[in-house]
Amino acid sequence: MTTKQAPSTLQKMGLDSPMALALHLPSRYEDETELLTIEEAIHQGRFNSAQTQGVVIRNQVLFRPRRQMIVTIEDETETLNLRFLNFYPSQQKQMAVGVNIRVRGEVREGFQGPEMVHPTVRAVAPDAPLPASLTPVYPASVGVSQTIIRKAVTQALRDSSLQDSLAEFLPKKLMAELLPSNDWPSLQAAITYLHQPPADANTQALLERTHPAWRRVQFEELLAQQISLKRAHAIRQERHAPSFAKNKEERKDKRGQQSFEEGLLKVLPFKLTNAQDRVWSEISNDLSKSFPMNRLLQGDVGSGKTVVAALAAARVMDHGYQAAIMAPTEILAEQHYLKMKEWFEPLGVKIAWLSGSLRAKEKRLAQEMIENGQAQLIIGTHALIQENVSFARLGLAVIDEQHRFGVRQRLEIQQRVGSELFYCHQLMMSATPIPRTLAMTYYADLDVSVIDELPPGRKTIATKVVKASRRDEVIGGLQSWVSKGLQAYWVCPLIEESEVLQLQTAVESFEQLTLALPDFKVGLVHGRLKAEEKAAVMAAFKANEIDLLVATTVIEVGVDVPNAALMVIEHAERFGYAQIHQLRGRVGRGSADSVCILMYAEPLSMAAKERLQTLRETSDGFVIAERDLSLRGPGELLGAKQSGDAMLRFVDLQRDAWLIELAQQAAERLLAEHADLVERHLERWLGSRAEFLKA
Ligand code: ADP
Ligand code: MG
Repeated sequence: MTTKQAPSTLQKMGLDSPMALALHLPSRYEDETELLTIEEAIHQGRFNSAQTQGVVIRNQVLFRPRRQMIVTIEDETETLNLRFLNFYPSQQKQMAVGVNIRVRGEVREGFQGPEMVHPTVRAVAPDAPLPASLTPVYPASVGVSQTIIRKAVTQALRDSSLQDSLAEFLPKKLMAELLPSNDWPSLQAAITYLHQPPADANTQALLERTHPAWRRVQFEELLAQQISLKRAHAIRQERHAPSFAKNKEERKDKRGQQSFEEGLLKVLPFKLTNAQDRVWSEISNDLSKSFPMNRLLQGDVGSGKTVVAALAAARVMDHGYQAAIMAPTEILAEQHYLKMKEWFEPLGVKIAWLSGSLRAKEKRLAQEMIENGQAQLIIGTHALIQENVSFARLGLAVIDEQHRFGVRQRLEIQQRVGSELFYCHQLMMSATPIPRTLAMTYYADLDVSVIDELPPGRKTIATKVVKASRRDEVIGGLQSWVSKGLQAYWVCPLIEESEVLQLQTAVESFEQLTLALPDFKVGLVHGRLKAEEKAAVMAAFKANEIDLLVATTVIEVGVDVPNAALMVIEHAERFGYAQIHQLRGRVGRGSADSVCILMYAEPLSMAAKERLQTLRETSDGFVIAERDLSLRGPGELLGAKQSGDAMLRFVDLQRDAWLIELAQQAAERLLAEHADLVERHLERWLGSRAEFLKA
């Protein structure tokens, strides 16, 4: 019997308690509550699933045009054929002549009259009772049948402990004030309803999850989330962090010279944009507080986030504290390192570089400098928190492209940054715009600053979509491009299954392009190169010693070479929205008109076609992110996919945006007026998932 295995498979799905089962809500329903006569079923028309029953009067296996079984059933009104293209001997037996069967499916017109193709079939007594409620269909994983889940859920709903877990404790008064016309059922009633909706339930509303029973569940889930985020916020404000107010006069006296902040503004070859000015004053204000900053700096690719981070670092260093900048990839971290050296070394700042690929001795040296406080500014990869690094006086941690770190890593960062000695200020940066609803739910404890303006003089990027069969033409175009003294990128396809294969195609393209452009210097950079080798290639490209850079996606983020204004992306159909948007942001940074060529191989899927078209039509990061969001769901967009836990199971942030505000108000009131209920509510909804909310 399969029931023996059932507990473990259910447990693997996380369905290990009555509460977990109760919250495992159906994804749709089947209506088995109505039984039609065969005549009625036939006249109900196509595309309408119907349930009917009859006695089998014929059971034939045909071999032409292909092997199939035709079963004919009959009741007092009509006969109906059932057609099975695949069938087992057991089914032949189940539907033997004389047996009464109940079938569900769509009736359509076949060659020999009305028929159902592959209906669901059950042998039952003619007077077998009909279920009183709709039949739930649950999200299931391989190896768990609906029957097993249904049984387990039904049992769980009867479990006495559930009464307790689902007990109503949101104060009636509060609910009535928030929801003047509240037609929502109690939580327990809502859950029962969703598992066993009555035959006359509004199935449309159930499916679309707009039914009051769904609303009730969604509201509770959002409420838990809002509470935990608000609590995180309150906890943060009680923590202590050193305050770094703008205090030029004092610094001047002490060092007898200008502050790093002033110095930096003087070395910069440009003036801050208005948007940069604005976000910098928001950050500056946070830094002057004596509790830790937790701010996300958002700005499209190329909007100039780095300099804002540098200003924050300068402020912190002016107060004698250390600042650290961390990036998810070595290339990106290295770009920051070079930039900071350029800006800060003339001002006499000591900078340390720390990445996983340093030799042991260099690493130890860097660690020493960080530990004894000699290093004022520390740049690196995840190694900054992984290795045994202890900071002498860390005042600010800047985390670039934070969503590209895994959830685990982000938790580690939180733990490191927010534990030792004191809590330092934290600035996260991201080029992936986060829609407002997301920011409100996932990031309620995060303040957000947005750079919504690109530095002046940026050229728009003309994006072209070109078939791979026109590769030679594209190479011809490249030739005339580099002849003008301009540089270009050639990005090789992402091959997820195999890094080796990815490398191979990059090497092939490199060789082909080297042959095709004999008068020019072609470079190659990929993930397998050692850090120094990568750095050398990037430096040569930056110095315009390389005309064409063939690269894998290692150049995705942050690379900054203004003279490179042409980018060719091979197999663009294999990249996602965000990746192409990021890649494309590498060009359009200088004074030349920029071009991005998306080369694709046929056949194109519908999704890929739409993606390439959107990317050709717009370069607005927000538009692209919205498309991406509707396609992939928020978890993946934020990099939470790795956690394997969708944080909101029942809420769709686009559909249910209005509920978020309601939940926010309820959370505030509950925290202020009913602090005793808060714990219970959180435990009910979040359990172990609570910690992921902080990452
Ligand atoms: P991102 O926001 O993508 O990290 P960067 O900080 O790398 O962007 O900046 C992109 C480019 O724009 C860099 O070359 C940078 O020096 C330049 N830049 C930044 N701010 C300005 C500005 N206000 N005026 C002109 N150029 C700027
Ligand atoms: Mg950047």
